[in-house]
Amino acid sequence: MAKQAEKKGLIFKIKRFSVHDGPGIRTSVFLKGCPLNCLWCHSPEGIRNDISIWHDQNLCLACGKCAKACPEKALELIKDTGPYMKINRELCNVSGKCVKICPTNAMQFTGSAATVTEIINEIEKDLLFYESSVGGVTLTGGEPLNQPDFSVEILAECRKRKIHTAIETTLFCEKETIDIVSAKTDLFIVDMKLSDPEKHKQYTGKSNEIIKENFRHIAALGKEILVRIPLIDNITNTEENLNAITEFVNNTRMDIPIEKLSFNPLAGNNYKKLGIPFLLK
Ligand code: SF4
Ligand code: SF4
Repeated sequence: MAKQAEKKGLIFKIKRFSVHDGPGIRTSVFLKGCPLNCLWCHSPEGIRNDISIWHDQNLCLACGKCAKACPEKALELIKDTGPYMKINRELCNVSGKCVKICPTNAMQFTGSAATVTEIINEIEKDLLFYESSVGGVTLTGGEPLNQPDFSVEILAECRKRKIHTAIETTLFCEKETIDIVSAKTDLFIVDMKLSDPEKHKQYTGKSNEIIKENFRHIAALGKEILVRIPLIDNITNTEENLNAITEFVNNTRMDIPIEKLSFNPLAGNNYKKLGIPFLLK
């Protein structure tokens, strides 16, 4: 019988030597797809659960080779503003001919399909660093719990190799997903944005009732948790919101630390590459 091909998941980055996503030196694996759509998201390429193309103005020579190579006529190079590539996504079938011909990597895919084995091969390159720094692997995104089976497989393979595992998550998922993943996860890094459900819906597209319920659930399971709050002026970074999140976390379990994250001013660049507006003022 022919061997079944290993299933693939969608990722958009693997970052080695990461020091901000959990203890020690880590490899962060960025999985595609997120149920939320935060106004300040700095990885808009991670929101959709599919692969498309994007264009980096800073690398572009304006040679026009990509537009000429596109059989679907999906690209229009506008030279006077930058240069800027107008991508007609209705016409683009993601064949990648433009990516292949571009001499500077200015045209790129927004992610790739990868097997667990391929990801583990990358992770294993830094085993010595995890050991010496008490580091490990962090699944992030996007939302890693958006591809739960794939995430669990990666975490399970890490566990087999005695690598510390962390998940950076919004916790916007089914409770059953938490149960499956938590057995293989040492640390949950939970992004909490807004305490008020209505404001949460206004700025992320979804209310936060499920998130709060899942938070209480992982706390009751006794998991190690770190809460992170992105500081967005006049939205998350208000005294009222920060106090409300702190009160919620402390009332859930007193030993959970809270970290505040400064806003990344370069977040707008990735919206430019995708050709979509960055609406955060
Ligand atoms: S991916 Fe293919 S269809 Fe899309 S713009 Fe590039 S060449 Fe054209
Ligand atoms: S092929 Fe690459 S460098 Fe040339 S115009 Fe297209 S994106 Fe720019």
